[in-house]
Amino acid sequence: MSAYKSAEQYRDVASRLAIPSKAFIDGEWQAAASGNVFENIDPATGTMLGLVASCDGADVDRAVRAARRSFEDGGWSRAAPEERKAVLLRLADLVRAHAEELAVLESLDSGKTIKDCLNEIGHEVPTFFQWYGELADKSFGKVAPTAEKVVAMIVKEPIGVVGLVLPWNFPLLMAAWKLAPALAAGCSAVLKPAEQTPLSALRLAELAIEAGLPPGVLNVVPGFGETAGQAIGRHSDIDAVSFTGSTEVGAYFLKYASESNLKPVGLEMGGKSPMIVLDDADIDDALVSSAISAAFWNGGQNCSANMRQIVDRKVKDAFLDRVLERTRALQVGDPLDPATDLGSMVSAEHKERVLSYIEIGRSEGARVLAGGGASEGLSGSFVDPTVFDGVDPSMRVAREEIFGPVLGVIPVDGVDEALRIARDTDYGLHATIFTRDIDKAFHLARRLPCGTVAVNGFTEGNVTTPFGGYKRSGSLTRDNGTEAVDQYLQTKTIWISLR
Ligand code: NAP
Ligand code: MG
Repeated sequence: MSAYKSAEQYRDVASRLAIPSKAFIDGEWQAAASGNVFENIDPATGTMLGLVASCDGADVDRAVRAARRSFEDGGWSRAAPEERKAVLLRLADLVRAHAEELAVLESLDSGKTIKDCLNEIGHEVPTFFQWYGELADKSFGKVAPTAEKVVAMIVKEPIGVVGLVLPWNFPLLMAAWKLAPALAAGCSAVLKPAEQTPLSALRLAELAIEAGLPPGVLNVVPGFGETAGQAIGRHSDIDAVSFTGSTEVGAYFLKYASESNLKPVGLEMGGKSPMIVLDDADIDDALVSSAISAAFWNGGQNCSANMRQIVDRKVKDAFLDRVLERTRALQVGDPLDPATDLGSMVSAEHKERVLSYIEIGRSEGARVLAGGGASEGLSGSFVDPTVFDGVDPSMRVAREEIFGPVLGVIPVDGVDEALRIARDTDYGLHATIFTRDIDKAFHLARRLPCGTVAVNGFTEGNVTTPFGGYKRSGSLTRDNGTEAVDQYLQTKTIWISLR
C-alpha cells in the first residue's frame, strides 16, 4: 500500500485549509500597519491563494520591539535550558501532528511536490526542532587555565534579537534550519519568509505558541525584500542576521550592517556545484539516481544542485544513456499528485528565467539531449527536465546559477582536468565525487574549495553536519550541526580574582 494519499484526497485537504493572511507579531495575527497586502499565487495553476500582509519598516519595528521585550524579560532567553528543550520538543511533535496540513499548504504555495513537502515537513523539520532542543541542556561552557587565585569562566550567552531572512525553495525547512538553533540558544527572532512562500512559516509561528513559546519570541513578517528584508538588515536593535538566498542579496546584507549597527551577518548563498564522475566509477543505479537528484531534486531549485556534471570521456556514453533513460521517465505535473517527480517552478517569472538560460545554453553551442523547454500541455510554471551535453566550462550555463531542472555534462580526460574545471567557479557550496579509488576520492575532497563534499552518493549531510559555503557561497558561519548555534551566541569571559 502506498504511504501517500491520492491527489484528490490532498486536494480535499487543501479545500479545507485556513490560509494565513496576516503577520504574526507578539503572539497575534496582525495586519500590516500600512494596510497593504500582496497577492500570493499558486504557481502550478496561476490562481491566487489569498492576500497576505505586506510588511514594511513599521511592521518590522513592531516585531523587533516585541522581540526585544521578550528577550529582556528573560522568559525565554534566561529560562532553564530544559524548559527551552521541552518547548522545542513539543513544537517538533506539533509539526509532526500537522505535517499533512503544512505540506499541502507549502505545496500550494511553492509548486513543490507533495512527496518532497511531506518528507521535509514530516521528518526533517521536526528533527531539527528535536535535535536542537536536545542540545539546549547539553551545551557546556569552559573554565580557562589560570593561577590558583583566579577563576576565569568562558560562557556563552544568546546574542539577542536575530533577523532571519529566508528563500523560497525549502520554505519551512530553511525556517527550521535557522529557528531551531536560534531558539535553542535563547534568542528572540524576527523571521521574513520569501514573498513567494510565506504560508508555512506563518502557520509554524502559531504552532510555536501552542507549544509554549512565549509571545514575542518568534515574529513572522511576510513582505518584500526591499521593504521588510531591508528593514531587518538595517534595524539597529537587531543583534545578528542569518540570511539564506542569492549571493547578490547576501551582499546587500553586509552593506546594511555596515551602514547601521555593524551586526554580524551569517550568509548561506548560491552555488554552481560540480559532480565529478571518474573513469573507474560504476555507472550503476546508485550513481545514476544521484546524478538525477543532484540536478532535478526540487526542480533543480536547490542551492547545492550539482548542475555541472564533469564526466570522464571513457564513461560518458554509458553515463548519458542511463541518465537520459531516467530523465525521460520523470513525471512533471500536478504537485499534489504523489506520482509527480517535478512540480512547478516557484513562479511564472522564475520559469521564464530558467527557459532563458536553456536558450542561452543552446545558443552557446551546448546540445539538448532531453527536455529543453516548457512542459507541453501544462498551463502553470512547468519546465521539462533538461540535459545538455557538450557544455564548455566557459559557457554562461556552466558559470551562472540557473536554479532550474538543467543537468549539464562537461566531458573531461582524467582526474586533473576534472579537478581544474570543478575548482574554476566563484562559488563553493558543494561537490560530489564518484570513484572507486579511495586515494583519488581523498585527493579531490581535500582540494575542492567548498563546504560539503559528498563521495559516492549525492547528499547535503543532515542535521548533525555543518552546511555552508566557501567563496561567494557563504560567510564563515554554518547552518546545521553544533556549529549553527554559534551564529546565535556571544562569548563572555568572567574573570574572578580571589582573595
Ligand atoms: P533571494 O532573491 O536572494 O531572496 C532571499 C530573501 O532575501 C527573500 O526573503 C527576499 O525577499 C529577500 N530579499 C530580496 N531582495 C532583498 C533586498 N534588497 N534586501 C533585503 N532582502 C531582500 O533568493 P531566492 O530567490 O529566494 O532563493 C534562491 C537563492 O537562494 C539561490 O541563489 C540559492 O542558491 C540560494 N539558497 C542558498 C541556500 C544555502 O543554504 N546556501 C539554501 C537555499 C537557497 P523576497 O523574495 O520576498 O523579495
Ligand atoms: Mg506562493
